[in-house]
Amino acid sequence: MKLIFEKTKPGAGCSVLPPCDVPEAPLPDWAARKKPARLPALDENQISRHYSALAKRVFGVNDGFYPLGSCTMKYNPKLNEELAGLPGFTGVHPLQPDHTTRGCRKVLELASQYLREIAGMDAMNFEPAAGAHGEFAGLLLFKAYHESRKDAARTKIIVPDSAHGTNPASAVMAGFSVVNIASGPDGCVDLDALKAVTGPDTAGLMLTNPNTVGLFDPNILEITRIVHKAGGLNYYDGANLNAIMGIVRPGDMGFDVVHFNLHKSFSTPHGGGGPGSGVVGCKDFLVPFLPVSGTFPASDGAQSIGRVRAFDGNFLVVVRALAYLLTLGKENIPEVARNAVLNANYLMEKLRDKFPPAYPGPCMHEFVISLEKLKASHGVSALDVAKALQDRGMHPPTIYFPLIVHEALMIEPTETESKETLDEAAAAFLSIYDQILEDSESLHAAPVNTVILRPDEVQAARKPVLRYVPS
Ligand SMILES: *Cc1c(COP(=O)(O)O)cnc(C)c1O
Repeated sequence: MKLIFEKTKPGAGCSVLPPCDVPEAPLPDWAARKKPARLPALDENQISRHYSALAKRVFGVNDGFYPLGSCTMKYNPKLNEELAGLPGFTGVHPLQPDHTTRGCRKVLELASQYLREIAGMDAMNFEPAAGAHGEFAGLLLFKAYHESRKDAARTKIIVPDSAHGTNPASAVMAGFSVVNIASGPDGCVDLDALKAVTGPDTAGLMLTNPNTVGLFDPNILEITRIVHKAGGLNYYDGANLNAIMGIVRPGDMGFDVVHFNLHKSFSTPHGGGGPGSGVVGCKDFLVPFLPVSGTFPASDGAQSIGRVRAFDGNFLVVVRALAYLLTLGKENIPEVARNAVLNANYLMEKLRDKFPPAYPGPCMHEFVISLEKLKASHGVSALDVAKALQDRGMHPPTIYFPLIVHEALMIEPTETESKETLDEAAAAFLSIYDQILEDSESLHAAPVNTVILRPDEVQAARKPVLRYVPS
């Protein structure tokens, strides 16, 4: 498909304004362009067709099943988009007088109350604009806490090897060094390994529970106790909360700080790079360190880590989250979690015979299968299967993550898929299994039905072409 710049036609355009009937006022010389802007020129219908054609090449949640593990690509109610688009929300300015923004203040107040309740935390801050940003802010709270106690030796953050990549990255950004611990054979935290690395230099632990292999760590209380006993703090990466929301609370598991991705679990679509919201919750003793630039500052700010973003972050994401919470209510939020877990287990069981899961036992909202054996016996990789799934009209699951499982396919159906969709997905997987037995070579050519076939992934990652350079 041609780029819009390659379709440009000199002289074309779609301006329908009447000719100017007042004298032109030219810009002063210093402000005027020396060369005309390089803008594409197309007729209106060409522009319209160009963008429609682009839209047809995209695969999103609105197009089909999208089981991208560790990223919760679920269907989000369109009603919440309508609500976030109401002019009272979109037209508001954060510096308006309070008496003109009562509705917006109420949104923040209620969202904070409900999210605190779900988190089991005492305070909630809306500034961070993404999950990684929330982790960064949360770890600055750890740092400020240890500094306030003149405990300068605590420089290390413990991160299990199954963690999302943003965890170690945020720890380094916040000025800590990272201590990696290997997971046990059951995919969970190895308590002895944890004990061996905790000590007077431990600033804290970062954990996702359920973790990225979809398992709820049965030793969670012991894990957080070990870290607390050593003088460290516990950080809960709650990017994907759909497995536990309304069922168990990070605060009750022994965590001191948590972030939620409102753009994964609470009804803002994601995948296009934003806007998002990585709200951060914390326990009482950390409240003095929270950012205070939002509508409801949690303290006088004397010990605050400073602002990580202006005002209340991406407010319209909070509007969607509140709409979602109010629609579901206290009764149905746990139902989201139950369905997320049920759907994942249903699909896992349907695939088990042909694609056994990497870890035994029931899973939470996602599960991981390993193609290691099929690769050894038939030369078929996780990538081949992912591409073959595209041919069958679904988005591939996450592949080659987590790193602790070889030839990993990490599948999260999400709570919003029907049994029919899950049955279709299982059928697609099983037909790929048949294809592997019949003609495994043919899988290396997949996908054959998509607009772009198999790009050179190394080239695409190492030398991405992200910008049009005119000839
Ligand atoms: C998505 C995700 C993150 C990072 O969130 P962003 O909004 O992309 O920065 C962190 N941890 C886990 C487990 C995630 O799934």
